[in-house]
Amino acid sequence: MSSTLTPEFQPVRLVARSPALSTPPAAARWSVQAVADLFELPFAELLYRAQSVHREHFDPTEVELATLLSVKTGGCPEDCGYCPQSVHFDTGLEAGKLMGVDAVREAAQRAKQAGATRFCMGAAWRAPKDRDVQAVAELVRTVKAEGLEACATLGMLGEGHAETLRDAGLDYYNHNLDSAPDFYGEIISTRDYQDRLDTLARVRGAGVKVCCGGIVGLGESRLQRAALVAELANLTPAYPESVPINHLVKVPGTPLAEQPDLDPLEFVRTIAVARITMPLARVRLSAGRQAMSDAVQALCFAAGANSIFYGEKLLTTGNPDVDADRALLQRLGMKPRHSFGA
Ligand code: SF4
Repeated sequence: MSSTLTPEFQPVRLVARSPALSTPPAAARWSVQAVADLFELPFAELLYRAQSVHREHFDPTEVELATLLSVKTGGCPEDCGYCPQSVHFDTGLEAGKLMGVDAVREAAQRAKQAGATRFCMGAAWRAPKDRDVQAVAELVRTVKAEGLEACATLGMLGEGHAETLRDAGLDYYNHNLDSAPDFYGEIISTRDYQDRLDTLARVRGAGVKVCCGGIVGLGESRLQRAALVAELANLTPAYPESVPINHLVKVPGTPLAEQPDLDPLEFVRTIAVARITMPLARVRLSAGRQAMSDAVQALCFAAGANSIFYGEKLLTTGNPDVDADRALLQRLGMKPRHSFGA
């Protein structure tokens, strides 16, 4: 694995614009039907609209590289049907304690050297205790000291937790809505949709940026995919700054291990619809990329994805390796985001 930036992989800032179609204002509310109508567009028309919205707000050749590290693995009491970290399913995963500062610092340094600008830390808790949040705050300070953006995903936050993390320098908090409100209960029974919305409100209330997306391919209908996107786009007071769109990774031992494959073009459509409805968000091509062909990933970028998880592992499941990602981005003429806040 190469650990330094090659000259042709140096970040650049380009300005590329094309005639834009009308885009909704950030505060526009999307009906499920309006989002479903986007899904129904002819594929080329949908891609054209998504690409046009994308170019209006972003350099279409630029992609954010985020690295995700599992800082506390397994043993989670929740029963999310897709997740190998749940204690409810026997996936052979070995549970671990919260990682220490030194190990996280080394991982952050490696991520930065490989070109990542954001470092996300995931911990498999239902809801962290006060002392857990204090410990993660220390990890956030460690990541920030390395000059990276910090993101954490720790489960449901209680009173004051978001503020503690913010004061440590946390830039983003990830908490996904996973799926449509009327499908959620098919996948998770140990918490409800409102629990998710409550934590997102705490994060927003503390002034921490929101990373929130979902998973497709769980067995939901197209209308339910549209409902997920509408929920995300309609979050108040604003849609998330960062929207990870995950494809189900079918892990043996989980209830969704035998789930039929989703048409890859439907995944691309979901990316495009997320881009159109949340024009200023970083739309992240997240879990499931390892099973995607380069051509499907290229279509996702054309549809407006402008962030990827970068590194060999995504919490506990595989991810394309760094060299393969660099090679793909170079073949596509894409460059990493050059600095924060872009
Ligand atoms: S997705 Fe998160 S909350 Fe759900 S079981 Fe896995 S670690 Fe726990």
